[in-house]
Amino acid sequence: MKKGDIILLFVLFVAILSSVLFIFLKPKAVECVVYENGTERYRYPLNEDLTVMIPTGDDHYNILEIKDGKANVVKADCANQICVHTAPISKVGDSIICLPHKLSFILESE
Ligand SMILES: [Zn+2]
Repeated sequence: MKKGDIILLFVLFVAILSSVLFIFLKPKAVECVVYENGTERYRYPLNEDLTVMIPTGDDHYNILEIKDGKANVVKADCANQICVHTAPISKVGDSIICLPHKLSFILESE
């Protein structure tokens, strides 16, 4: 094997390794999916800050805030306020449930 071949092999090896690493390390897009009564209603990417009012069927609301990669219910007019008191969620599988409004906010990967 010539010296040039070894360098070529090395360059190839590094190129393959970095593309494999890129695929594995690439962060998956996480979305906050809002379900009302088990039906998907809205989907918001977690990497874009936003504050949105989620209206429920019977003139009530929950206000969802997405900030710094976390989703949080900041305000709601439900009876028990459990959704408002739930800590912000940031990992896939995390959820915030509002039972009085039959709403669930679940983090899913695309
Ligand atoms: Zn609630």
